[in-house]
Amino acid sequence: MLNFCILASGSSGNCSVLWNESVAVLIDCGCSAKYIVENLASLGIEPCNLTAAVITHAHIDHISASGLNFLLKNNIPVHLHEDTLEDIFRKYGNKADECYSVSFNGGFKIKDIVVEPFNVYHKDERISRTLGFSFSSFVQGKKYKVGYVTDTGKVCKNMIKSLSDSNILVIESNYDREMLDSSFRPYENKRWVLSDWGHLANEDAAHAIAEIKAASTAPDSLKYVFLAHLSYHHNSPELALQVSKKMLYSQDINDVKLFAAKRKERCQAIKIK
Ligand SMILES: [Zn+2]
Repeated sequence: MLNFCILASGSSGNCSVLWNESVAVLIDCGCSAKYIVENLASLGIEPCNLTAAVITHAHIDHISASGLNFLLKNNIPVHLHEDTLEDIFRKYGNKADECYSVSFNGGFKIKDIVVEPFNVYHKDERISRTLGFSFSSFVQGKKYKVGYVTDTGKVCKNMIKSLSDSNILVIESNYDREMLDSSFRPYENKRWVLSDWGHLANEDAAHAIAEIKAASTAPDSLKYVFLAHLSYHHNSPELALQVSKKMLYSQDINDVKLFAAKRKERCQAIKIK
């Protein structure tokens, strides 16, 4: 059994939580401490129940000063890539000393959860690396898996492989191309968002979901898919859902429950068992 909930998703803050009877892992801490504490409490999780946190990258919407203070104040181990440690040191100084860098040698364990990080395509002048993660737990020979990738400019074969067989998949569906094209954003910013190191368009997310589903063989793979990190200005939940639904139906995939993650409100908690 494994529970999962997205507390917030988007450019104003990202945070999710994954838990079972013996472990609770926070994924990113880009919201305020108050928001994180209140939303965890609504799920019956107290800060002292958190076993560890993992961080995808050092953009402020994934690790805010308030979020990092919350983790350190509550002595919650923070796992991140050593490049992200440097990015955070530049931003938050010696607070980074209390974080742990993650291993790339086959992943690591947080109690009975196996965490496997993989590289994704998202960087700029402030951050040098971004990770995606898969989280697996094995109970009586059964595997429960959550795949997590927000903030990536493209999806490659290695990412598809890492995310395949996930029971719950979180994938960025950031923007609608036409809305971004016609937006007021400065040209340089648009160019970065559209690049292989920026964010993922709705169509690309839809393609990736279909590819991950095709690469999956486990029962209940991609039972729940959350479209994440939707742009406020260049997307809408209806549009993102419509593009992915259309793609899945066109490939005769009709056993995937699709959700659009919300910016400032937690999603429905999902229990896989
Ligand atoms: Zn980012």
